[in-house]
Amino acid sequence: MPELPEYERRKAGRDHGDRDEQIAALTDIIATLAQDLRRIEDRVNRLGTTAGKASAAAPDATQHDDTAPAPWVWFNPPAAAEDQPESDGDPRVTVGNFVTWYNATFVGLEGSRSTAIPACWEQHTGLAMEVAALAYTWRAANLGSDAGIREAQYWLHQWRPGFIERLTREWVHADCCDGQHRDGGPPPRANRFAVAERHAAAVSYPGPGSDGGHGKPATVESPDRGGGVPG
Ligand SMILES: [Zn+2]
Repeated sequence: MPELPEYERRKAGRDHGDRDEQIAALTDIIATLAQDLRRIEDRVNRLGTTAGKASAAAPDATQHDDTAPAPWVWFNPPAAAEDQPESDGDPRVTVGNFVTWYNATFVGLEGSRSTAIPACWEQHTGLAMEVAALAYTWRAANLGSDAGIREAQYWLHQWRPGFIERLTREWVHADCCDGQHRDGGPPPRANRFAVAERHAAAVSYPGPGSDGGHGKPATVESPDRGGGVPG
């Protein structure tokens, strides 16, 4: 089998590295912008409240920010739906951003156990549960007035290594970590937010044969699977 010439292999590796760096840089920029936006919104809201009260507020009241990273959080935290006053607080946004941020921050040396969270994480039910919990324990330990350095250290020392060990030993195949998903464990299923959306869509659409009566959502299970053939 002919091998790629040395310079081409090096170029491919370099392109890959460049792309990872660009993704990390963009993630950082977006997180900074999101954080600035949060701070500005927080100020505006506070100003509105203060003006409404028309009272002499304490001058240090503007320092309080319930989404601010603790001093030991060295990089901008991932943007989260819960921190955006105008968002609907969709946890899928929070967890998705956390995965991108995690992969830009906690991937270790090549060959070490600290691999990236694979793109197929949601297709492994056990892993999906773990990733979501990992995202929210990180937030609890590191953001806002409830952040605590001991919890932050515990997350680094116990949660993260335990998570990553289970990821590679129990949840995914090595192929998944290489970007080639292989099923394993229970079959993948929709998360509860998607199920709720599907349910809402089914309820709002009475479906064929409805007599306008009780309108039970008979198509809730999977409108996208089977029975979709027109005519
Ligand atoms: Zn997989």
